[in-house]
Formats: sequence, structure tokens, C-alpha cells
Amino acid sequence: MSKPATLFNRLALIGVGLIGSSIARAARAQGAVRSIVATARSPQTRRRVAELGLADQVVESNAAAVEGADLVIVCIPVGACGAVAKEISPHLAPGAIVSDVGSVKGSVVNDMAPHLPKTVHFVPAHPVAGTEYSGPDAGFPELFVNRWCILTPPKGTNAKAVRKLTEFWQLLGANVDTMDADHHDLVLAITSHLPHLIAYTIVGTADELQTVTRSEVLKFSAGGFRDFTRIAASDPTMWRDVFLANKDAVLEMLGRFNEDISALTKAIRKGDGEALFEQFARTRAIRKGIVEIGQDSAAPDFGRPHPDFDTPLPKPYAGAED
Ligand code: NAP
Repeated sequence: MSKPATLFNRLALIGVGLIGSSIARAARAQGAVRSIVATARSPQTRRRVAELGLADQVVESNAAAVEGADLVIVCIPVGACGAVAKEISPHLAPGAIVSDVGSVKGSVVNDMAPHLPKTVHFVPAHPVAGTEYSGPDAGFPELFVNRWCILTPPKGTNAKAVRKLTEFWQLLGANVDTMDADHHDLVLAITSHLPHLIAYTIVGTADELQTVTRSEVLKFSAGGFRDFTRIAASDPTMWRDVFLANKDAVLEMLGRFNEDISALTKAIRKGDGEALFEQFARTRAIRKGIVEIGQDSAAPDFGRPHPDFDTPLPKPYAGAED
């Protein structure tokens, strides 16, 4: 099968952590761009990016990175995007597409758009894919395969630019959807931001318990706690910025969550097994739906390898599947 055509001449990546380095690896693997120029805030990261050979050129400033680039992707915490937009603005090539990967879109649009010249096309994006790891070593080319990338172009954005960025993300393996920035923030508040807040809370609560020892928490973590700890290991800077930037939507979802947890608290106190069963049966069906659309593995224990067993765990342990 012939390789798809190169979409961009020069991709500039500002920030080369988990997401930026995954874009670099995937864009190169797919031949999506002719060359990649990268920069990062610290000399250590820039050095590492050069050692890993993630870019054709590693430069010291954001301004130098965007010179002559026809695609610029800002891959840094959302709270820093406004200042970077201001800094790169005079150096952007006319006709360039400027994008980002921030987990919140409303604040990024508000912070970046006013600084960008009319001669470029601003197409904000959020690849809904990630891990709890950070930095240029953490990325991998398959990160976006079969994951969604949401574009939130402001009204009046050049349709050709939106189409081109769509093709870019599709070439990296993602499915692309387009929506309004505020709607994105509401959807992600419930599907990503609130789950992270709950994970950060529950892991913190367990850590403060007096009557259960820390070693017991770790030893018996497979009882459910372990999966929260993975999420709660996510980058503190990134997530601080997410909650500050998406305050309204998160508070809205948190209000609803508090009401629902109060209802479950009441059901437990009253011994209302029927209410508990109904809720758990409803949520089990949601999990089944996520597996059916290919957004997670149906394998027992989330597909974790069990080196002592060469066959999958027996059926009773794969409860969610029956
Ligand atoms: P990361 O691995 O921590 O990398 C962050 C990069 O941003 C590094 O190159 C870092 O440079 C740079 N940086 C940090 N603070 C900066 C600042 N104040 N000014 C300029 N550069 C700065 O982060 P990531 O996971 O790739 O996340 C990057 C963006 O992707 C965030 O906006 C996040 O919301 C979004 N996102 C993350 C995920 C995820 O699961 N991680 C998923 C989807 C979208 P140094 O290394 O030199 O400090």
C-alpha cells in the first residue's frame, strides 16, 4: 500500500513531553511532515529531545521554532499557552496553522486567540489520549491510535485549515470530532477531569488513614484502589492547570456528583439494596458499552500480563464480561 502524502513541510513543536514527543514519533513514523523542529522550556529537556532524535532540529527559543513552520503545535500545560502565543505571534509564517493539545479548550482559546495574527489559522485541538507519565521519554508513536482527537475551531476558522489538521490527526491514527470549546469542556469535565479529581482525593484519603496501615493499602490495592493510583500519579502541574482553567464545568459536575454520592450514602445507611443494585447494574452496562466501541480492553484485569499463567484468567474473574 502506498504511503499517504506528506501534509506539512515543517512541524514546530513547542513543548516535548508525553504528548509532544508522541506527536513527533507518530508524525515521523507516518511521514506526515517533511521536517520537525522542536523546543522545550528547559535545557535538560531540549538535550534529551536531541539525544532521542525526536526532531530534525532542536532550537532554544519558541520564536526560533516557529520561523517558517506551516504547522505549529503548542504542547505545554494550558496555563502557559497565552504567554507562548504572545511570544511566537510576530514570528509566525503567514498561512501557518497554529494548534495546541490542551485538555481544556475554552481558556486556551481565550488566552491564545487575541495574540495570534489574522494571517494564521488557529485550530485548537485536544487528543483524548494519555498516560500518567511525563517527559520526552514517555511518548510512543501509537498513543493516538483509535483514540479521539477533538478540534474546537472558533467560528469563522478557515475550513481548509480545519480539514488539513483533521487529516494530520487521522494520519496519526486518531478519530477526529469537532465541537464548540465550551461543550468540549463540559464533556471532558465528566469524562476526564472529575475522575482525576476523585482519584486524587481517594488516594489522599487512604494515605491519611490512621487505622489502616500504608503497607496494607499497598498490599491489598488490587481491590480497586490500584486503578485509582495510576490516575492519581498524573502530572501535578498539568492537572493543577486543568482545574483552574475548567473551573465552572468541573464545579457543575462536582455538584451533580455530590448529589449522587449522597443518594448512595443514604441507600447504604437505610440498607436499600434495591437502589444500590439498580445503580451498579446501570453502570456495569456503561462499562460494557465502552468495551464494545473499542475504547478499552475486555481482558480480565485490564489485560495486565500474568506471567505465571499462559492462559487467560478463568471466567469467574472476568465478571464484567458475562
Ligand atoms: P509533559 O509530559 O509534562 O510535558 C510538558 C512540556 O511542556 C515539557 O516540554 C515542558 O518543558 C513544557 N512546559 C512546562 N511548563 C511550561 C511553561 N510554563 N512554559 C513553557 N513550556 C512549559 O506534559 P504532557 O502530558 O505532554 O501535556 C502537555 C499538554 O497536553 C497539556 O496541556 C495537557 O493538558 C495536554 N494533554 C495531556 C494528556 C496526558 O494524559 N498527559 C492528554 C491529552 C492532552 P520542560 O520539560 O522543559 O519543563
